[in-house]
Amino acid sequence: MHLLNADLHCHSIFSDGSLTPTELAQRAHQGGVALWSLTDHDELAGQAEARATAEALGMAYVTGVEISVTFAGETVHVLGFDFDEHHPGIVQGLAELRAGRHQRARDMGESLARAGIPGAYEGAIKYAANPELVSRTHFARFLVDNGHCSSIQEVFSRYLKEGKPGFVEHRWAGLGEALRWVREAGGVTAIAHPARYRFTPTEEFALFGEFQAHGGRGVEVTCGSHFPDEVVKYADMALEFDLLASRGSDFHAPGESRVPLGTLPDLPGKVTPIWSLWAPRLAAQQADPMVAA
Ligand code: AMP
Ligand code: MN
Ligand code: MN
Ligand code: MN
Repeated sequence: MHLLNADLHCHSIFSDGSLTPTELAQRAHQGGVALWSLTDHDELAGQAEARATAEALGMAYVTGVEISVTFAGETVHVLGFDFDEHHPGIVQGLAELRAGRHQRARDMGESLARAGIPGAYEGAIKYAANPELVSRTHFARFLVDNGHCSSIQEVFSRYLKEGKPGFVEHRWAGLGEALRWVREAGGVTAIAHPARYRFTPTEEFALFGEFQAHGGRGVEVTCGSHFPDEVVKYADMALEFDLLASRGSDFHAPGESRVPLGTLPDLPGKVTPIWSLWAPRLAAQQADPMVAA
């Protein structure tokens, strides 16, 4: 079960990735992925294409999303899996999150203009293939291509991280609210890339505790932005909070993302993979029986 090559985190042009769901499915397949999920930020428009292409290539697929949440004043990302993408609660909730991005992007543009970079809002929206989803990543690509910075990383550290001139405070979904959308649509949730939040140990404990109290089931343990010691730490946290473990590259774009789809190390042996929830279906779906850990 551990040795199933599952990649349950990536982004398409429907959010801040640079490839279509079809191109991502092909890359996942080439990377040996057997179970895949497209998890665009706050958006489900790529799901039908992702599922259809995955199935045509013989990969098992679960519906996915990465929901922007505000918890203790910090942005936290919550992954949702295996839910009904047409359920009105999540459809409406995500539509409202996307709508809030428009004003935020205009405010970011003004903020960057004050920092000496004019035209960033107009520039960024040209990079957003989905007009409903303009993100900081689109601003970052615009700033790199226009010579303001030499890399996406540099844009974030100089302009787009909290406390930097282009950063705009924003209120996303509540934790309980996001978990309710996914649960009522029949799915499960996992805390995305927990090592990336700037929480004190007390705040982190509160996040895991509240997440679990609201019915959250999983945590991303092995992911594109975790160092090996962080994988160990969050495997322990998964056991401590009785959470299932997820694995995902968080692939966005060739040349930008360090980890290609399907190439991460396996989950540590002591955790239970989140895909154990889907084992009967996966076994039925796959010609090749899963390798038992
Ligand atoms: P947004 O949802 O508009 O706030 O954009 C968040 C996205 O920005 C994340 O999903 C990442 O793709 C990207 N991002 C955030 N921080 C960084 C960073 N330090 N370096 C590169 N990309 C980042
Ligand atoms: Mn992103
Ligand atoms: Mn994220
Ligand atoms: Mn992501």
